Amino acid sequence: MLSRRKLIKRLSSGTLVGGLVGGALPITVTAAPTAAPKRDLFKELGVRTFINAAGTLTYMTGSLMHDEVLEAIQNGAKEFCLLDEIQDKVGAKIAQMVHSEAAVVTSGAFSGMTLGLAGILTGMDLKKVEQLPHLTGTGMKTEVICQKAHDIVYNHALTNTGCKIIQVETAEDVEKAINEKTALMHFLHIEADKGKIMHEEWVALGKKHNIPTSIDIAADVPPVENLWRFNEMGFSFVVVSGGKAMRGPQSAGLLMGKKDIISAARLHMPPRGFNIGRGMKVNKEEILGMYVALERFINEDHGKVWKMWEDNTAHIESAVKTVSGVKTDVHVPPLGNHTPTLRISWDPDKLHLTGKELQEALRKGDPSIEVGGSGPSHIGVTVWMLKPGQEKIVARRIKEELSKAAV
Ligand SMILES: *Cc1c(COP(=O)(O)O)cnc(C)c1O
Repeated sequence: MLSRRKLIKRLSSGTLVGGLVGGALPITVTAAPTAAPKRDLFKELGVRTFINAAGTLTYMTGSLMHDEVLEAIQNGAKEFCLLDEIQDKVGAKIAQMVHSEAAVVTSGAFSGMTLGLAGILTGMDLKKVEQLPHLTGTGMKTEVICQKAHDIVYNHALTNTGCKIIQVETAEDVEKAINEKTALMHFLHIEADKGKIMHEEWVALGKKHNIPTSIDIAADVPPVENLWRFNEMGFSFVVVSGGKAMRGPQSAGLLMGKKDIISAARLHMPPRGFNIGRGMKVNKEEILGMYVALERFINEDHGKVWKMWEDNTAHIESAVKTVSGVKTDVHVPPLGNHTPTLRISWDPDKLHLTGKELQEALRKGDPSIEVGGSGPSHIGVTVWMLKPGQEKIVARRIKEELSKAAV
C-alpha cells in the first residue's frame, strides 16, 4: 500500500493517473500502481525469512532499511562520482549533525575502530600507512589501554593494526600502564557500568597524559543524543553501527572525531590500496544510504516511536499473560539496545516447555518468528524490529504455543 507521503510524491511527479480534483486525495488508494517485485529471491534460493522479535542482531541481518534509505541507494546507483569526493562531502555534513570535527562513513563500527586507531598510529605518513600491521622497528606506538571489563571480542578491530591490548582496572592502573608505546585508551560504552572508570574520568586521564581516547557505542542509539554526547565529552574518536537501530545499510557505520585522526584514517581507506583498510570498502550507495539513515534518525519523533514500542510490547504482554502460569516483565537496558525488552517466563510445573523449545516452535511455525534469548523457562522479545501489525502475529503465536504446553 502507498503511504500518504509517497502518494503525494507520486502525484507531484505526475506518475499517478489523473482524475483527482483540486488536490483532494481519493479515499481508496489501493488502485494505485504498485510494482510487484519480479523475483522473490528468498523463495527462489530457499532462504528462510522471519518476523524479527529478537532485536538488531548481526547474524539476523541487523535491521531493515527505511524506504528513504533504499531510495538513496537506488538513486545513488545510477551515477558515477569520485569516492573521495562523496566521502568528503557526506563526512562534512555528518560531522555537523553529530557535533564532531570530522566524520567518515565506514563499513561498520568495527572497521571504524581499526581505521581510527590506524590513523592515530600513522598520522599522515604514507610510509607508515604501508607498514601496518607491522609495527616493530617503525617507531609507531604499539599499545592500547582498555579496562578489563571492556576488553571484549570486538577489540580484535584494534589488534588488527598490530597493537596489543593492555588491560587495566583502576585509574592507578591506567597511570602505571601509560608509557611511550601507548597509542590509545579505548572505552566500551555498553559495559560502562562493569568497569571502575567512567567516561569523563577516562577522557580526563587521556587528556592529562596526552593520549587519545576512543569509545565504541556500536549498539547504543537510541537515545539519539549518544550520537553527539561522546564527541562533546572530548573522546578523540567515536564509532557507531549504521545497521542497527539507525536502520542504515548493515555494512555501514560512522567514525566520528578529531579532524587529524579522521584525515589520517582516510589514508587507510579505499580507493587507496596500500593499507590494511582496503578490504573495508564502503560504496557510494552505502555512503548515501548511511547519510540519509542518520538524518532520518536524528529528525525522527523519538517520543512517538517509544510510545509505539511500549504499546506493541504491552499488546504481546497482555495476550500471553492470559495463559495460566505465565508471567511477564519489561525492562529497558540502560546502556545499549535501549528499547523495551519483554521477558516472558512461566511456571515449569504448569507449562511443560523449555525456552529453547518455544524458540524452536516459533521458528518452525508459519510465519517463522525469531525471539530473543531463552532460558530454562523464559524467552525474550523486543518489538523494535517488527513491521507494523506483526506484534499481533507474535502475540498470537506465543500465546498459542504456551497454551499447548499447559498441563
Ligand atoms: C555490533 C557491535 C560492533 C560491530 O559493529 P558493526 O557495525 O557490525 O561493525 C562492535 N562493538 C559492539 C559493542 C557491537 O555491539
